[in-house]
This record gives sequence, structure tokens and C-alpha cells, in this order.
Amino acid sequence: MLTTTKEMLLKAQDGHYAVGAFNVENLEFVMAVIAAAEERHSPVIMQTTPGTVKYASLDYFAAMARVAAQSASVPVAIHLDHGDGFDRCMQAMHAGYTSVMIDGSHEKFEDNIDLTASVTKVALPLDIPVEAELGKVGGKEDDGPAVEGESPYTDPDQAQQFVETTLCSSLAVGVGTAHGVYKGTPHIEQQVLKDIRSRVDVPLVLHGTSGVPDDQVAEAIKNGICKVNYATELRQAYTRGFMGFMSKYPDTFDPKKAAKPAMEEIKQLVMSHMDNLGSSYKA
Ligand SMILES: [Zn+2]
Repeated sequence: MLTTTKEMLLKAQDGHYAVGAFNVENLEFVMAVIAAAEERHSPVIMQTTPGTVKYASLDYFAAMARVAAQSASVPVAIHLDHGDGFDRCMQAMHAGYTSVMIDGSHEKFEDNIDLTASVTKVALPLDIPVEAELGKVGGKEDDGPAVEGESPYTDPDQAQQFVETTLCSSLAVGVGTAHGVYKGTPHIEQQVLKDIRSRVDVPLVLHGTSGVPDDQVAEAIKNGICKVNYATELRQAYTRGFMGFMSKYPDTFDPKKAAKPAMEEIKQLVMSHMDNLGSSYKA
């Protein structure tokens, strides 16, 4: 059975580890992420952005996650990543998603509160947890424009007011990470994270973690991060495995053959992140 992210993240918060949330793009991603979770006996969140559900529908991903969860021995959740409006969140819940994010971080503070509260009002009574975002995660998210030139950090006082008003279940924070591929070495502002943690008690979420050194992520978990998102690295792993096979055996025309090493690349990557996040053997 699919589970929600609520209990998963509260358990992680109690146990001082984080659950990995891995963006899946197709059937092979789903199978590889589940295989990793099974091998590591780790709870796992699979998530899709609106860009991905434009490629294949919410129904497709909900169905794949449901089938995967039915035969899995570990808790599995399917989460809407960067929900781009009230309607999208409702559609995801209707399709069977067990967790949604409403991303009002591009709006003014008050508008973000109103938008987030409109979703929590419907979702929470149905036991669907809601992730919200305050502050800016840099870089290019999904297929939207790059965010540049504004202070990226979440204000701790605003975070407290935001959580108290919206009743969001978890909060994505701006602490220096960015979506996409980093040009230099990324730097998480651990003090900002500690300040936010001292004001709010909901699980905190780290976005844009692909390319962030493991020791910085581990430190961020000590400082209150309970959910860590990886998207870009999985795309790179899949493409590396697929293309590696095709350049070695260019006459191959059965896509299943090249998909196998592609899935293996994702599986190894996901297992290594689960070890670093501390979620291995926590299922
Ligand atoms: Zn994100």
C-alpha cells in the first residue's frame, strides 16, 4: 500500500535522519528507485514535477507508484513536487497521490500564505500532507525560468508565522541550494537552517540537492532537514547508463537492453544516498 509522507517524515524527525525524495521520469526510474529502497530496507518517496506529469499524466505515475508499493516491503509515498496551483494539487490528490507540495514561493509572502492555506484546508482533513515553500531555491526548477538576483534565504521569523498560519505539514526552505547542475561547489548556510529550526517544528525539506557534497547534507540533517530531494542526479545516472550501453553496442534496437544498465546506475545512486541520509534499514 502507498503511505503518506506524514508519518514517514515525523519518524525521520524523531530518529534524526532524512527520507530521500527521488524524482521519477518514467517506468524505469520507478522500478530502479523501488529496487534500491527494497535492498536498503528504506522508506522512500517518489515524486514528480508538473513538467513530468505533462510528459505522462498524474494517473500514470499514481498507478505505477501504487503497483510498486503493493509488492514492496518498505513504505512508499508518491508526492507532487512543486505543485503549481490549487487545481494541480487537487488533481494529484484525486489521482491517488499521497502527498502534495504547493509552491507559492514565487508569490508575495501574504499570497504564498493564502495559496498554501487554500490547499491545506482541503488536503489535511483527507490526511494528505502538504509541503510548502518559503524563500528561494535557486537555479532552474522544472521547466520554469532560473531564479536570480534575490536573497535566497528563508527568513526564520516569517517561517514561524507561515507555518502557524498555513498549518503546512512540512516546509521547503531556501538555505543556499539550487535546482539543476551547479557551476561551483554549493554551500548550505547551516546557521540559517538552525535559526529556522529553532522557530518551527515541522519537518524541513531540502531542494536542489543533486551535486551537494554528502557531508553538507548530513550536517543539514543534524540541523533539521527530514526530506531531501534528488532529481538531476537521477536523470544523469539514467542517461549515463543508457548511453554507455548504446555507444558500446550501437546496433542494439531493444530499448530494454540499454534500460538495464540505466536502472542499475539509478539504483546504486539511490542506495548510496539512502546510506548518507540515514534512512537505510529504517523501514
Ligand atoms: Zn525543488
